[in-house]
Amino acid sequence: DSLSAKIPLTIRLCGPRGFCAGVDRAIQIVVLALKAYGAPVYVRHEIVHNRYVVEGLQAKGAIFVEELDEIPAEHRSQPVVFSAHGVPKSVPEDARTRNLFYLDATCPLVSKVHKQAMRHQRLGRHVILIGHAGHPEVIGTMGQLPEGSVSLIETVEDAARYQPENPDNLGYVTQTTLSVDDTAGVIDKLMERFPNLTAPAADSICYATTNRQEAVKQAAPGCDLFVTVGAPNSSNSKRLVEVALKAGAQRSILVQRASELDWDEIGPIRTLGLSAGASAPEVVVNEIIEAFKSRFDATIELAEFTIENENFLVNRELREVELTQQ
Ligand code: SF4
Repeated sequence: DSLSAKIPLTIRLCGPRGFCAGVDRAIQIVVLALKAYGAPVYVRHEIVHNRYVVEGLQAKGAIFVEELDEIPAEHRSQPVVFSAHGVPKSVPEDARTRNLFYLDATCPLVSKVHKQAMRHQRLGRHVILIGHAGHPEVIGTMGQLPEGSVSLIETVEDAARYQPENPDNLGYVTQTTLSVDDTAGVIDKLMERFPNLTAPAADSICYATTNRQEAVKQAAPGCDLFVTVGAPNSSNSKRLVEVALKAGAQRSILVQRASELDWDEIGPIRTLGLSAGASAPEVVVNEIIEAFKSRFDATIELAEFTIENENFLVNRELREVELTQQ
């Protein structure tokens, strides 16, 4: 029969995977704001890097804008939510000037990085930010301090080339969603050149990034293919793809939906690794599992690194709405 014709496949399903507490909180903020203030609720920038999530919120009445000037005058009293990635200081200032009511969904762990960067500066240090140019979190962190007081370092090569004004007075912070190992390389290079470089008071790679990467490292060796569910502009998802490859997966790909899976290219694999970036919803993970199940005689094996129980409170203005909802 057709079942016996299917090739056996082991799916190593990584845990933790998918939504982190910061993403979960950001989505809740938009949903609760819609409940409390009615539609439309404006959201500056994609709330999290995921089309599925963005479209779901649009259907509920959220309107996504890139800049605050896109909010029409007649809607000024409706809330505007700032994304989980954080925003430069100029954005809330601009919102106040325009008399807008804003709700900041910046992840508390990103705010922590902002505070550490400000602390370095207060103590007279020039700030090095290890991160990727153009990522909204990097734009937000750099925008906490006056122009020129933060230098962005992306790679070990950048670290080798970097020429600070005062090599003895430097402090660094990192983007929360980098690869733990790659960051270590950059930090080592900087430390070697600038022994007085000051680390942030606490690690700035977030718990969710670390846990997702560790689970991938455990699951990837021996996988014929590793699939990470996530968006092409999601930093932490892209890092998972790299981590899987480095840890020994034969191939490693990023997909947003099951429809993107190219079955000819996938071929007759025996072991599949599966994880999802911090902005990827579990429904899409299930969709991918179902797609493999329909073509293979699949068995799921959990590759669980740890169990998370982080939960971040929503903004004060919304806590009551949350309570009356339950
Ligand atoms: Fe916050 Fe980490 Fe999630 Fe980013 S990945 S939103 S820093 S918990």
